[in-house]
Amino acid sequence: MKHSWSVKPKRSLVAGLATSPYIRKRRAVPLAEKFWLRVRKSNGCWVWGGSKNHFGYGSFHVRRGYSVYAHRAAWEMARGPIPIGMCVLHRCDNPACVRLSHLWVGTQIENVHDMQRKGRAANGGLKGEMHPAAKMTEDDVRKVRGMRGLGFGLKDIARQFSISIAQVHDIARGKSWAHIK
Ligand SMILES: [Zn+2]
Repeated sequence: MKHSWSVKPKRSLVAGLATSPYIRKRRAVPLAEKFWLRVRKSNGCWVWGGSKNHFGYGSFHVRRGYSVYAHRAAWEMARGPIPIGMCVLHRCDNPACVRLSHLWVGTQIENVHDMQRKGRAANGGLKGEMHPAAKMTEDDVRKVRGMRGLGFGLKDIARQFSISIAQVHDIARGKSWAHIK
């Protein structure tokens, strides 16, 4: 997408905003500044310091009577529009976090699985294939680790098994399916 205003073209923040359906072009720069003023950065999560909803998700006031989720706005500013029907999910357990590296885009189904995973205490500690959210078989898990060992990228593996990059990462690192060797 071409931009008509004169800013340094490498500032992805500005470029991303221009493609956002949330945020109109002429207001792009002031809104981005407004956004980041409310974020407290640290080595871990970048926490939204503005208003939050009942579940702890940040709310970014875009214009009168119109707010968006802060983590979704953060994603759009960097990556462009979120595909219709997709969810922006957290790798961390911090709904107020807006750090791009802690966010990933998943389907509604992945969203449900992610919530189940984070609320794993409620699932009675079932492991692997016994877990109600499992899509992978134990054999798949071994294949994922094997591919990772051969140097395949997270994205390629994720696509092959129709799981998220975060899930590939967790499997490869043994954070999930730790009982499979
Ligand atoms: Zn985070």
